[in-house]
Amino acid sequence: MNNYKFGTKAIHAGQEPDPATGAIMTPIYQTSTYVQESPGKHKGYAYARGKNPTRIALEKCIASLENAKHGLCFSSGMGATDAIIRLLRPGDEVIATDDLYGGSYRMFTKIFAPAGIVFHFADMHDMGSVEKLINAKTKMLWVETPTNPTMKIIDIVKSAAVARAHQLLLVVDNTFASPYLQNPLDLGANIVVHSVTKYIGGHSDLVMGATCTNDDAIQEQLAFIANSCGAVPGPMDSFLALRGVKTLHLRMERHCSNGKAIANFLKQHPKVDKVYWPGFPDHPNHDVAKKQMKDFGGMISFTLKGNSMEEAFRMASRTKVFSLAESLGGVESLIGHPASMTHASIPKEIREKAGVVDSLLRLSVGVEDIDDLISDLDQAIG
Ligand SMILES: *Cc1c(COP(=O)(O)O)cnc(C)c1O
Repeated sequence: MNNYKFGTKAIHAGQEPDPATGAIMTPIYQTSTYVQESPGKHKGYAYARGKNPTRIALEKCIASLENAKHGLCFSSGMGATDAIIRLLRPGDEVIATDDLYGGSYRMFTKIFAPAGIVFHFADMHDMGSVEKLINAKTKMLWVETPTNPTMKIIDIVKSAAVARAHQLLLVVDNTFASPYLQNPLDLGANIVVHSVTKYIGGHSDLVMGATCTNDDAIQEQLAFIANSCGAVPGPMDSFLALRGVKTLHLRMERHCSNGKAIANFLKQHPKVDKVYWPGFPDHPNHDVAKKQMKDFGGMISFTLKGNSMEEAFRMASRTKVFSLAESLGGVESLIGHPASMTHASIPKEIREKAGVVDSLLRLSVGVEDIDDLISDLDQAIG
């Protein structure tokens, strides 16, 4: 499958017609265990925490979309993140993007820092500042790009060069771009992590995560951790994700074209102050975005003139097509207020330094008709 193009892989990779019946859709193997002929003699499946055929089909499909040799699915994006950090030992150090997904920041600082892993948060626009933090204990660079919610773009090729020079593992959280817009392993990353909950699943009907890698030893360790710690997704959710991913390329095209139209609408609106979207030529890393991404995506953040929390709240509760909700990447458009929602667990001084001010609103632009989306925002801004 790996020599086919993206849309063909999204629909077919990992999925053969069911050998028993010819069913074109992968069956939902809703089972916890598998019958053995004699002790230890079985068809490769012993217990479903370790392996499930519906899950394996999805893992192969996601891996092929990332041009990866291996994929693994987890019961959430945080489950996948947790498994990757478990590759480390107490005393090991990680350097991560400073404006990180709130849940990753919380896991790093509240769960793994007390367990002895040391985290540094750096502005990765400047690889010099990253190199200053590297010492003999540094083991991993953790990059998120585009970042959440101010759409910073981190240069993956440059990050990979630093990681290689110091023998660090480069992990890229590719949730915001999805494999359609960006393939970090091709740019030198060692591990890609996804919240499948978002664009890959795409229909706001499941919570799931995934890792992809080309490295056999890393895959073996991650699979060992997944089976030992048990954060694996069930067969029904695996089926839903397999169904969702079949239209990833079609959805992404519309997310991108709707995103572009809305970014431009907001930029000329008199009540809007800043608009964060990597497609603008004056975005600080527009050239890097153009180089490493296929298009600019449907995630947009903006602030209101006067920076009033009340006005931001009013706008977020007045939209009718955009729903006020956490999460992103689904077919339906969402509006969110990061300072009180996704980034509420990050201290105010830290989040404001990262641009998450009181009036910042974040849009996950869906695939509805663009005219309806723009008039909805127009009436809500008031
Ligand atoms: C949502 C998200 C996660 C966590 O994924 P869950 O599926 O919610 O556990 C991690 N990283 C990013 C960038 C996300 O948006």
